[in-house]
Amino acid sequence: MFQREELIPSAEEILRSLPLPAPLKAVKAARDKLASDVIRGNTDKLLLIIGPCSAHESKPVLDYVERLGKLNEKVKDKIVIVPRIYTNKPRTKGVGYKGMFTQPDPHSKEDILKGILTIRQLHIDAIGISGLSAADEMLYPENYAYVEDLLTYIAVGARSSENQMHRLVSSGIELPVGIKNPMSGSIPVLLNSIYAAQSGGQVFKYQNWQVRTTGNELAHAVLRGAVDGYGNDIPNFHYETVMRVIEGYSRTGLKNPAIIIDANHSNSGKAYKQQIRIVEEVLGNRLYDADFKKYVKGFMIESFIEEGCQKEDVVYGKSITDPCLGWADTERLVLDIADKV
Ligand code: PEP
Ligand code: MN
Repeated sequence: MFQREELIPSAEEILRSLPLPAPLKAVKAARDKLASDVIRGNTDKLLLIIGPCSAHESKPVLDYVERLGKLNEKVKDKIVIVPRIYTNKPRTKGVGYKGMFTQPDPHSKEDILKGILTIRQLHIDAIGISGLSAADEMLYPENYAYVEDLLTYIAVGARSSENQMHRLVSSGIELPVGIKNPMSGSIPVLLNSIYAAQSGGQVFKYQNWQVRTTGNELAHAVLRGAVDGYGNDIPNFHYETVMRVIEGYSRTGLKNPAIIIDANHSNSGKAYKQQIRIVEEVLGNRLYDADFKKYVKGFMIESFIEEGCQKEDVVYGKSITDPCLGWADTERLVLDIADKV
């Protein structure tokens, strides 16, 4: 049984009630071009999607992105920084905290309408305070419409990459959509997802409309490591593995082939400090092989103000989902990446 709790206005109504101010629209459009240019191979800059695993409260997230905005000024010739402001969280066991979208105040009960308004305001404020438009995970594809005017990068998570609706909605987006390898680590499944997202002419029901998409040639791969049948993490950022992915990718004829390395999750086994070593290793491999360099166009890093994670929101600026690098390590690592691009 579904108990109806609250009627949620349409995305069009919400966008009208809380629009992105015109000056920020221009900032966002310029940022979209910067990020898209990396995926298209129009620039040698690296794409860096970086920030907390989940944005559970606005204040520390804005504090964090303000710092990123300042750091961006130092590295923007080498790196396109896209903050992770992830407001929807998939859960391994399906239960627990599901993100700001569902629960805008982690200390209070679920309230989706308030959640939608809170995340719109957060994304708008983040662009205003840092000049950086963000990435978010498209966990529920129909809800993408509530933030479609605010994001520069859209992530499809490991538990979603095989899902038809995620693939269909991705095919209508004109921005970089990073599709994670599924939990199994299957590269054919990942490449099929990218194929589906790049394919136009797809007809389905979206937001009360029959729509037809044009295909998204900016859909690309994100390698996050895998989990084997016994629950062990299997990294997929090492040289040999990435070269095999490149081999498979190159045979598909997909447009704008690109790989982003997710340094946390099953690549680090969530030993968050290892993200530093993983990024350094991948940067070294980019120098070693021209194909590796051509395909590997960036990183996804989990980072916040305080390092690690906590079960509940007690410490300011500390993740309540996956463990993150702290700010000091983050700053050092980003400057180091800029040196080595
Ligand atoms: C994440 O990026 O925080 C995440 C949930 O990733 P994945 O889908 O790879 O588990
Ligand atoms: Mn995470």
